[in-house]
Amino acid sequence: MSQLGSDQQEDAWQDLCREAEEILKPTLQLATQIASAYDQIRQQTNHLMTFTEARTDPLTGVSNRRGLDNMLESQFAMMTRYETIFSLVIFDLDHFKQVNDKQGHLHGDRILQAVAALLDEEARETDVVARYGGEEFVVVMPETGMEGACVFGERIRVAVEEQLPVTVSGGVAVAMDGDVADSLLARADAALYGAKSAGRNCVFRHNGEEIEPVVELVSAAVAEAEG
Ligand code: GH3
Ligand code: MG
Ligand code: MG
Repeated sequence: MSQLGSDQQEDAWQDLCREAEEILKPTLQLATQIASAYDQIRQQTNHLMTFTEARTDPLTGVSNRRGLDNMLESQFAMMTRYETIFSLVIFDLDHFKQVNDKQGHLHGDRILQAVAALLDEEARETDVVARYGGEEFVVVMPETGMEGACVFGERIRVAVEEQLPVTVSGGVAVAMDGDVADSLLARADAALYGAKSAGRNCVFRHNGEEIEPVVELVSAAVAEAEG
């Protein structure tokens, strides 16, 4: 009798174990799936970080030349396919060599970081801010034409003058049919050269034919906006 009782107990125990296993099975499967998903996320995060790092300027945290090239490539593709418009501004710090010479390279680096932060703050979420060279920055603005780009350029010039111990000059250009990255950048660069020649701390634009200061266009746009 006692033997029978212990057999029954054993059977009951095994049933219980099987039931428990059945109940736990989905949970174990889920745990395995979560572990594998976690692993995938970790791998993708690593890829993304490598991708982002390769396109980021280490000093300022904005895009580097490679990031800028990618952005321009996609903007030209959008322009060809969907007839979208876009523009860009090149900013160059004025007499920056003197700042370095007088106050040291480290101080110069801090100013570069401050200018990058200001540009990042003022630009739209969809704009791309890039460090183009030593002390030059480019802002690419999707869906923005000549007027908008000039207003932005002048706003940045004023903000830098008011907030930082340096000034910037700017050159504006709008992407045109037949442009490639180099031709667009060359027009903006020519406009920047115009701003430097005119005495610095100002913004010029290249309208495809000629180079001129943006102040008139900007004050007309502001007056119209104010009604
Ligand atoms: P301009 O108004 O004509 O632009 O004069 P500039 O002195 O700014 O122009 P120039 O091209 O003669 O000199 C650029 C200077 O920018 C040279 C260098 O001292 C400085 N510069 C370039 N890259 C860096 C950098 O990464 N850090 C620092 N601190 N300075 C840099
Ligand atoms: Mg320069
Ligand atoms: Mg300079």
